[in-house]
Amino acid sequence: MTADTLQIEIQQTSNSRLHEVDFNNLVFGRNISDHMFISEYRDGQWHDSRVVPYGDLSLSPATAALHYGQAIFEGMKAYKNEAGDVLTFRAIDNWKRLNKSAERLCMPTIPEDIFMGGLNELLKLDAGWVPSQDGCSLYIRPYMFATDPYIGVKPSDSYYFIIFTSPVGSYYAKPPRVKVETKYIRAAEGGVGGTKCAGNYAGSLYPAKLAQQEGYDQLIWTDAREHAYIEESGTMNIMFMIDGKLVTPYVSETTLDGITRKSIVAIAQHWGVPVEERRISVKEIIDALKDGSLEAAFGAGTAVVISPFATISYEDVDYTVPEVKEDSFVAKVKKYLTEVRTGAAEDTFGWTL
Ligand code: PMP
Repeated sequence: MTADTLQIEIQQTSNSRLHEVDFNNLVFGRNISDHMFISEYRDGQWHDSRVVPYGDLSLSPATAALHYGQAIFEGMKAYKNEAGDVLTFRAIDNWKRLNKSAERLCMPTIPEDIFMGGLNELLKLDAGWVPSQDGCSLYIRPYMFATDPYIGVKPSDSYYFIIFTSPVGSYYAKPPRVKVETKYIRAAEGGVGGTKCAGNYAGSLYPAKLAQQEGYDQLIWTDAREHAYIEESGTMNIMFMIDGKLVTPYVSETTLDGITRKSIVAIAQHWGVPVEERRISVKEIIDALKDGSLEAAFGAGTAVVISPFATISYEDVDYTVPEVKEDSFVAKVKKYLTEVRTGAAEDTFGWTL
């Protein structure tokens, strides 16, 4: 269904802030584009879908999301190809994942035409905000939160679904130093770790802050029972190259089904690189670092694309991770993914729209 049949009202800003942005010095998350898409859920239906100038919302202090955390989000990116067209990468997968989060958090799902129609209208209006500089893109933030002005604990009857965007540069300036977390956890079986709910990120801030005070950039999360198995790193999936194989924890209810991760797995399989999706113990990785069979360790996610680690720390010992070689799978897949997203390589898998 197109945005025409859905009837998205468009209200264009008369006061663009585009000229205020220094596209050569983009800081992640600082600049927000001119417009936002909003749809409101009440009486069991989505209403009033509209694109309006980006601005503040007026909310009751009793807004349910602020008290009991019915709040979920997505993160995705748009790029410009050589011809200047705006391309999104696997947006349908973000829509599906948002709806998976919605179900777990007892929130209504979003119809595809609202998600995709709203996104398309927004990107049409703010196409000028999509950077074309190397390594830069337009970060897209779709999110939904409970808006009942009511502080009893129950699923809200009303919600906002909003999309806004932000031009961004690359995430980490240099390869991060990561620490294996053995006290705090991000997710437990039966919990909400497999969703992108706001609380998951709130709960991770304190352990990440402690690691930063020790000189690390990010954590490697381990399982909640034994702290013996590797799950994710910060807000990225985690992957290793061991003896020429791509090895990554399987997706479970305690890990996010990352779109970058599954793209890398698909590319590896297509290129004939052996892939193992399985449980990975911390011990296996430390042993592989010690005996030299670990060729690379990296995070994979929309914000970073691929972020090779410089150091992995475990029980107060820092292990140096080998640098990614130019002709390695990691370097090649990073290049290929970037080229597919920017329309420079053939989109074999049909991922860009
Ligand atoms: N794990 C977590 C916890 C994340 O927040 C993200 C970012 N969405 C990822 C993994 C990577 O997912 P994706 O590749 O879809 O961005």
